[in-house]
Amino acid sequence: MAITRADFPLPDVSDDLVAGYFFGAAAGEVRIPRCSACDRWCWYPEAACPGCGGELVWTATTGRATLFSWAVVWRAFLPAFADIVPFVTALVALEEEPSIRLVTMIIDVSSESLVADMPVEAVFRPLRFPTVPDREVIVPMFRPIEAVS
Ligand SMILES: [Zn+2]
Repeated sequence: MAITRADFPLPDVSDDLVAGYFFGAAAGEVRIPRCSACDRWCWYPEAACPGCGGELVWTATTGRATLFSWAVVWRAFLPAFADIVPFVTALVALEEEPSIRLVTMIIDVSSESLVADMPVEAVFRPLRFPTVPDREVIVPMFRPIEAVS
């Protein structure tokens, strides 16, 4: 079914199941649902812990991850993306639970220098599209962690 929201392709931050992710991003944190009973991280968000049925609580992570996979998008697949190509879309594996892989964008680096498993960190940037004027959503994007010598 086609998505017909007027603000598409911005994420639907009014969806109760995912709103905590965007509230976290606006506060500068990558928050992931974690079970208050068994401590399991749960991604994608669900109504209750898939392991034990316990309550899931949006919990801050370090925002650190490793680069699991990526692709450089050269051609806009929707008109809204025409102004941002080329960009790097990626899966990053969270430090807390590497089986959780967030769909994100890699920024502030040349795509030629990306290497599998490289350490990355979250930065919080507005997602904007010219087809949705006057609206933006702060989202976690990721960039390589600078090597510290
Ligand atoms: Zn649980």
